[in-house]
Amino acid sequence: MADILTITSEHVSGILTKNAAPAAFCRNGDTVVFETRDCYDDAVVSEERPLGDKTNPIENPATGPLYVEGAQPGDVLKVEILDIRLRDWGVMRSSTMCGVFHEDFTERTARIFPICGEADGSGQYIVFDGCLNIPLDPMIGVIGTAPVGEGVTTDTPHSHGGNMDCHKIMKGSTLYLPVNTPGALLSMGDLHALMGDGEVFICGLEIAGRVTVRVSVVRGAKAAALPTPFLFCRGRVMTIQSAATLDAAGDAAARAMKEFVKKAAGKDNFEAGLLMSLLSDMAVCQVVDPLKTVRVEFPFDVLEKYGYRLP
Ligand code: CA
Ligand code: CA
Repeated sequence: MADILTITSEHVSGILTKNAAPAAFCRNGDTVVFETRDCYDDAVVSEERPLGDKTNPIENPATGPLYVEGAQPGDVLKVEILDIRLRDWGVMRSSTMCGVFHEDFTERTARIFPICGEADGSGQYIVFDGCLNIPLDPMIGVIGTAPVGEGVTTDTPHSHGGNMDCHKIMKGSTLYLPVNTPGALLSMGDLHALMGDGEVFICGLEIAGRVTVRVSVVRGAKAAALPTPFLFCRGRVMTIQSAATLDAAGDAAARAMKEFVKKAAGKDNFEAGLLMSLLSDMAVCQVVDPLKTVRVEFPFDVLEKYGYRLP
């Protein structure tokens, strides 16, 4: 088997922009490995030095960008997450400025957790303390294409993806992202070994790792029907929207899903609204990034009954 194209963690940036030089090129349908640093730029390696060991660490470094040949503006990039492998330790740190509880702290404190269990990701856990072991559920915090217009820093989620911190972006999921510039320019980073909905403390269990994805270009009407960023995970489709408030993000995610259900099931506003109230679930991804992120989930087998197939 030929070596899989790998983008090493030397190729990182704190901004997603159409002006970035590609770190690698691939063809439609190729499998690619992204080696990622943790959100502290791999600088916090000791609980004794919570500020870290680098003078100018990149906040939330994202590995990439990957140029996917043939991807053109108006297409959608399909990213199948085939595998996530984690470093053998993760780190969390308090903040004095961000997060729901930041006023509890006047200085930063770091905690390092060795990762226990098998390296293939199955059955991994951390020992929280003498009472509690916690199973892991690895996810990708930052994943996006180059945005429209100006670059967007990797601390911010928006319509291109970015720092969505949606814990459903996990092994086995398929993420659909907009193509805003030729080649799409896909980047990712900010892996979490585990994170709850909301990410209220400001971080997940931050960790470096290797993500294996297959990237494909969706074109034409199939692409136009997808309300990106759009996710398929464990039998459910999800719209993911970010806005200044949870109210606005929730409304946007619900509207995006309602429009998708109308097209996929051939429904009008009334019946799509009925289905949304009966079957969709709204959940908070995160409340701590510069914009807040909400997802709306809908059972995919319902759409299959109306003949819809995901591209
Ligand atoms: Ca994040
Ligand atoms: Ca993070």
